[in-house]
Amino acid sequence: MKNQLLRLLAVAALVFSAPLASAHETIQAGPNGGRLLTKIKPRAEFLLTAERKVQITFVGEDGNPIAPAEQVVTVTTGDRAAPTKLSFSKTVTGLLSDAAVPAGNNFPTVVQIKANPEAKAAVARFNLNTAICPGCKNPEYVCICGH
Ligand SMILES: [Zn+2]
Repeated sequence: MKNQLLRLLAVAALVFSAPLASAHETIQAGPNGGRLLTKIKPRAEFLLTAERKVQITFVGEDGNPIAPAEQVVTVTTGDRAAPTKLSFSKTVTGLLSDAAVPAGNNFPTVVQIKANPEAKAAVARFNLNTAICPGCKNPEYVCICGH
């Protein structure tokens, strides 16, 4: 019963915090030039590689990469009508998606990260827009100038 209540509270917190997060969120770049997901602890960097795979790197308080532990990452992206769900494998530096993001741009993207297989997922949402921002020259999904 207590568990159920906690779960309800967690869902309510997610629902009520979502509109705040999407408006005027300051975006930070990670150590590899990807988007830093600051709501996830430890912070995680989302980077679309040249092969259109998703690379997730965990980032410590000092801004340096830290090795992944037991985290389980799922990324849902692609055309809203037929989204692609990516799973991840550990690499030396972090996690890399097993498949590539489909061709196209400006996909609504949901990143779910569990601290371990039993934990509740922390969620980050953004549009994966790879057009280059004229202000900061980053891809729009890593735009740090608010352009
Ligand atoms: Zn910018």
